[in-house]
Amino acid sequence: MKIMINGINAGLRFSSAHIIPAHASCGFIHGHSYFVDVEIEGNRSGDYDFVVDFKDVKNSVRSICKKLDHRVLIPINNKNMKFKGINHFEELDSDEKEESKDYQDEDLDKSTDSEDYKDSDKSADSDKSMDSNKSSNSDELSVLDFCNKDYVEFIIKNKEYKFPMEDCVLLPLKHSSAEELSQYFANIIFEDLKEKGHEIDSVSVCVNEGIGQGAFCKKE
Ligand SMILES: [Zn+2]
Repeated sequence: MKIMINGINAGLRFSSAHIIPAHASCGFIHGHSYFVDVEIEGNRSGDYDFVVDFKDVKNSVRSICKKLDHRVLIPINNKNMKFKGINHFEELDSDEKEESKDYQDEDLDKSTDSEDYKDSDKSADSDKSMDSNKSSNSDELSVLDFCNKDYVEFIIKNKEYKFPMEDCVLLPLKHSSAEELSQYFANIIFEDLKEKGHEIDSVSVCVNEGIGQGAFCKKE
């Protein structure tokens, strides 16, 4: 059996700013009033023969919405975003820092694609990647890499951004698109409900970027 919750009617919403780096129209910082629809499949069980209590599902969704609401969404594994102060500049001595500034300027002039940057970065800093509890894929940054930072600074081609950390939420994603956000929600809600002992088969989430368009992901 399946239960469904309509996000716009149930108040499962968040409003956030984001950028889709290098995209022709979405590459400019802008915002959406998102709402989140959820479907849960599973067997009916317990004292009330519920699939899962609506309240438990809504609490799970709301906790994620609350984390994202009124924040800038930063997908830390986007290949077009070059983060300053993360695994490249900080551990170099001052001479090397000067060199790396030159490198950075040159990089900007050339608008070098970030694959090149990440490759050189990886070889220069492989030790740190082992120290910071990263996943086995060392191309990927971890939220832990941004610990104790007051600002998030990054470059996308020739544009430089600096946001107070408290205005942002760092997401371990490649994009802050509706597609990736729906997957992010589905994974967290699925694990959360399982942890709370619910015997569910799947969680499907549609993250809507306003009325009329959204991305749907099913986790089972
Ligand atoms: Zn957008």
